[in-house]
Amino acid sequence: MIVYNCPLVPFEFFHALKVPFRRIRPNSIEFQKLHPNVCSFCRSAVCSVEPNDVLVWVDSCDSMRRAYDFLKKTNRSFYLHVPVKNDKVVLRAFADELRKLWEKLKETFNREVPVSELEETHSWFLESSKNLEKALFEDPYKAKELFESLSNQEWIGSTKKDTLKVLLVGSWVSEELVKFIEDSGACVLNATCSGPYALLSDIQMKSNVFESIASRILSKKLVCGRFSSDRKLSELVKSFEPSAVVLHTAKFCDFYHFDGQILEKLKVPFVSVEENFSSGGFEQTKTRIGALLESLKRFSKPALNFSYFIGIDSGSTSTKLVAIDRSGNILLQEILKTGADPKESAKRLLMKSSQELKISHEDVFVVATGYGRDAIDFAQERVTEITCHAIGVSYLYENVGTIIDIGGQDSKVIRLEDGKVVDFVMNDKCAAGTGRFLEIVASILETPIEALGEESLKSKQELNISSVCAVFAESEIISLRSKGYHKQDIIRAAHEAIARRIYAMYQRVKGRPPIVLTGGVALNKGLKWALEKLMGVELIVPKNPITTGALGAALIGLQQKT
Ligand code: SF4
Ligand code: SF4
Repeated sequence: MIVYNCPLVPFEFFHALKVPFRRIRPNSIEFQKLHPNVCSFCRSAVCSVEPNDVLVWVDSCDSMRRAYDFLKKTNRSFYLHVPVKNDKVVLRAFADELRKLWEKLKETFNREVPVSELEETHSWFLESSKNLEKALFEDPYKAKELFESLSNQEWIGSTKKDTLKVLLVGSWVSEELVKFIEDSGACVLNATCSGPYALLSDIQMKSNVFESIASRILSKKLVCGRFSSDRKLSELVKSFEPSAVVLHTAKFCDFYHFDGQILEKLKVPFVSVEENFSSGGFEQTKTRIGALLESLKRFSKPALNFSYFIGIDSGSTSTKLVAIDRSGNILLQEILKTGADPKESAKRLLMKSSQELKISHEDVFVVATGYGRDAIDFAQERVTEITCHAIGVSYLYENVGTIIDIGGQDSKVIRLEDGKVVDFVMNDKCAAGTGRFLEIVASILETPIEALGEESLKSKQELNISSVCAVFAESEIISLRSKGYHKQDIIRAAHEAIARRIYAMYQRVKGRPPIVLTGGVALNKGLKWALEKLMGVELIVPKNPITTGALGAALIGLQQKT
């Protein structure tokens, strides 16, 4: 089996030699022997190479070069230098390299294939890739068939059309991501290197087949950030007219930074997501894309068949429920510990509330949000917490500029304009800047967590906890305590450390006042004080700061999507 790493390979060789071939693809295993700054796509895709595979390896980038250094020790391998420039001299040299590769592959697989057969295959390839380009916009199903027959790669993109259109650019994307976007009600054109664009070119067949194949590869259409000089991102955006663009990059890949600037100038709604292929799930990516798509839908017409609307926000620490009537009046707000089973807690909360309100299930429209929303299968609608917080807070206050939500396990800063989400940042990986950090502080200082706020306001001495990492901060707190500093002063320093972390997130999204502080930690007066001191503005805390996400979910139920 031939295994290739990048779609800028001479596919015609593989077809003409009639040798099975496939592309490497990421999985959740990580190749540990590579340097930690090798990109996450490469680290996990290298694991899909089997010992008997014959490699045709494009020198795509530093990461791929380092992977090659390992693989060549165990596998029969051929290295292909694809030049970045495309002029006559470069083209001839590349054609010569391709001719040598052709001879070596024939020898390796013991095939006697005349050049005339390669010419025929190349002519078929060019013809089919032109048909593929036409079919991309008109007949995606036909495009899928052509793409799969040319590249032996599974089609990763839509075969249906939809009113919302998402253009994917950047590095390799998976079927899972495309499916997620489709399930959110949009169709996808994949212009990353797992899509069809590396196979498309405008060239006419040349008399020398190697020069012709070289020319096809060098004049490929938009795909790869490494060949940034000929990326035609603006043209693609203008011809596809996407509702939104997702700029998808791999961790430690630097090739697509300029695409963000181009997209900003084009004024097309877009979101940048960075994936760590080897870490498995991609919850944050889903939330970012989900929030972008939700901002493009309009929630405006009242739903006709229900009298009550319930929003359930399934967070990692607690599950929140808000019930409203058809006029948007809040009837009830409930909170329960989430525990090990988010679906069970949501169900219990729903039953309890229905009994209290004396309403039957047929009368209720349920919208789920929060990290556990996918588990709540009895909800009629699932919406990201970003959108729900924006709607909930905007219902309570007018012209909000920024929401800072600090929960037990995560924190987020959301920038709004006219009640709509324009940018946001989430921290769900690191304890610093979340309620988890306060739990650590409370347990070291043997103080109930609810008392931290009041205690820190009694502080008389300024101390400094310099680390932003919860683990190091923990040892700093222990050391301050052993030096005899007062609890109140240490708690205040801990609040100030969290505030610095949150402020950095606020700056990243270019936040602006008025700022509403939500989440369980919003009730901590000491943290509010530390944030206000650092930011120089007063923060608004709603009466029930924990339930704003659930309120937003309930309000979405009240409004039908159009
Ligand atoms: S991103 Fe570019 S160089 Fe890297 S594998 Fe894809 S096409 Fe090849
Ligand atoms: S994602 Fe970027 S760094 Fe990784 S292989 Fe592709 S081009 Fe190279």
